[in-house]
Amino acid sequence: MNDIKFDIQPSQSPTPQSERDAALRDPGFGTLFSDHMAIVKYSDDKGWHDAQITARAPISLDPAASVLHYAQEIFEGMKAYKTPNDGVSLFRPDENARRFQRSAKRMAMPELPEEIFLESVKQLVAIDKDWIPSIEGGSLYLRPFMFASEVFLGVRPSKEYLYMVIASPAGGYFKSGAPAITIWATEEYSRAAKGGTGAAKCGGNYASSLPAQAEAIANGCDQVVFLDAAENKWVEELGGMNLFFLFDGNSVITPPLSGTILPGITRDSIITLLRDHGHDVREEAYSIDQWREDAQNGKLKEVFACGTAAVVTSVGKVCSKSGEFSIGNGGPGDLAATLRDQITQIQRCSGTDSYGWGVKLDC
Ligand SMILES: *Cc1c(COP(=O)(O)O)cnc(C)c1O
Repeated sequence: MNDIKFDIQPSQSPTPQSERDAALRDPGFGTLFSDHMAIVKYSDDKGWHDAQITARAPISLDPAASVLHYAQEIFEGMKAYKTPNDGVSLFRPDENARRFQRSAKRMAMPELPEEIFLESVKQLVAIDKDWIPSIEGGSLYLRPFMFASEVFLGVRPSKEYLYMVIASPAGGYFKSGAPAITIWATEEYSRAAKGGTGAAKCGGNYASSLPAQAEAIANGCDQVVFLDAAENKWVEELGGMNLFFLFDGNSVITPPLSGTILPGITRDSIITLLRDHGHDVREEAYSIDQWREDAQNGKLKEVFACGTAAVVTSVGKVCSKSGEFSIGNGGPGDLAATLRDQITQIQRCSGTDSYGWGVKLDC
């Protein structure tokens, strides 16, 4: 059952090359899609079955499909890159496969075997590799996701699911392209509480973060930063990125994975890289008050956010109802730039990779 074979049905009407090449010059983020998709069905009776790579097309759902009512849905976010000699690479895809299983477990969904996850991604990338933009910083964003498709309104785990992967060519992530972002510390909303779904990559976490993100935009900020739900004091993460703090003397703090923070693969990679650079990295709770104080007395050198979409982005300024403060001169930091370069090179298999994180695909 785990060595499921994908039936490959190439699109009968793929995008003409000239049209594709024109679109790939400025792909933006999340609006342009490749020609194919992966799809695997699950039912309690049959297990995982009907694995296909097929033309990307709308799917029809019964209005009583369980996901539309009770939000049993999870996703992943990863990228395929062009290597310097026109090959294709992925970054730590096995970590995405394992996190997808952990998210599934939290949402009472079946765990997709790691081999099926990896095969779905590799097959889709192989058939759509011409959709990886050649522009600087370009990549093919891959979105594996799974949802409850059983036609049933009772409240219990669905007995049927669809697992799918779609691919979207991507340029940069932030619309402004700003080198350092401004973030809004919300006192109104929290993202996750102890015992909740904060560590699962589920759509619901994002839905409930949208009013906070809107509050950030309304206050002239790029992104929202959430504090812990219990005390409204400890810094947790952004809506979709983890945070790091660099202090005088080269020590680094990142909030600990206590169940309310999404365990980012970029976060994990950065902890390893920083330790290998000789930094003292502590996974330790850090309060918003301490943050303000350290920024004002100059102990805090740099703050950056990280995630697959934007890799590493400096945080220049923090705003909240109780005022605002800048980090350093409010501009991008050197450590953020160093880490961004190092990770980008490993992702594209174009630098030293002593970790085996960059995975070349033969396609
Ligand atoms: C996906 C995500 C991240 C970043 O994870 P990466 O694996 O580094 O892309 C951080 N926070 C949240 C809430 C996320 O959903």
